[in-house]
Amino acid sequence: AKATRRGSHQFYSPEMNDLIRQRRALEIDLRRALASQEFVLHFQPRLRAETLQVMAVEALVRWQHPIHGLVAPGDFIPLAEETGLIIPLGDWVLQEACRAAACYPDLVVSVNVSPVQFRNGDLVEQVRAALSSSGLPASRLELELTEGVLLENIESAIKSLRALKALGVSLAMDDFGTGYSSLGYLQHFPFDRLKIDKSFIAPLGDREDSRSIVQAILSLGRALGMSVTAEGVESAEQLRVLRDDNCDELQGFLLGRPMPAEQLSELLADPARS
Ligand code: C2E
Ligand code: CA
Ligand code: CA
Ligand code: CA
Repeated sequence: AKATRRGSHQFYSPEMNDLIRQRRALEIDLRRALASQEFVLHFQPRLRAETLQVMAVEALVRWQHPIHGLVAPGDFIPLAEETGLIIPLGDWVLQEACRAAACYPDLVVSVNVSPVQFRNGDLVEQVRAALSSSGLPASRLELELTEGVLLENIESAIKSLRALKALGVSLAMDDFGTGYSSLGYLQHFPFDRLKIDKSFIAPLGDREDSRSIVQAILSLGRALGMSVTAEGVESAEQLRVLRDDNCDELQGFLLGRPMPAEQLSELLADPARS
């Protein structure tokens, strides 16, 4: 039956129909989840490389699904982006991250912002509202953006980034090295920090050329006056190399996994922090 259907209708196959149905079901489930507040934030520490003090935490969203349990963002963010649901979801993440960070003196929180939110939402207004309703000082909020935000209209991207900076928040370029944007553009964007993608950190210690690439990103960051964070630090060897090369900040399973908000108080109460 499959073969004859395929033959007669070029653009129809039962598999494609299943896929569309699955995505539609997931979209409905996502809408329901937003309304019934099934999303939670986990927080992963970011440490100063020199002292291993916790400087900040990155908010990472999870879906606490009534049937499937804790669902990772990679399984729902792409569809949330395609359907525009990332705009209300991203707004919730901003509100919740600011609210959580405001409970701890001096804690900086990083929030991931989707390119869709950046282009189609009223991000500046959402950020302003999240800061004002939580009471979190703007200096304690950092937004993480990927090169995807820079791909379309450079002029308008710069304008939006400047408007965000004018609120007093800081900006990080996430997953640095994985995008396609020209390095030459980087100097025109008001980023405060580069986050080296974990794919460059993973081979550190095994391959000498991987260290040269990381060193090149570190010099680039330094030349542009940006602080550099290595993400995905998993081994003692990677830690050693990154500290030797004077990477500014570190993040990774070796130093701390993403954790629920309740565990933050224990982490931050640690005397090693102050
Ligand atoms: P990302 O922003 O690059 O976040 C870092 C991801 O790497 C997180 O995965 C984190 O758990 C993981 N990670 C941290 N340390 C290590 C390590 O040492 N080794 C390895 N292998 N992985 C590590 P997670 O939480 O699954 O998030 C995946 C991606 O989903 C994020 O990548 C980000 O792009 C997106 N995401 C997460 N939360 C949000 C959100 O609130 N809004 C938006 N727009 N995107 C989000
Ligand atoms: Ca990030
Ligand atoms: Ca990243
Ligand atoms: Ca990513």
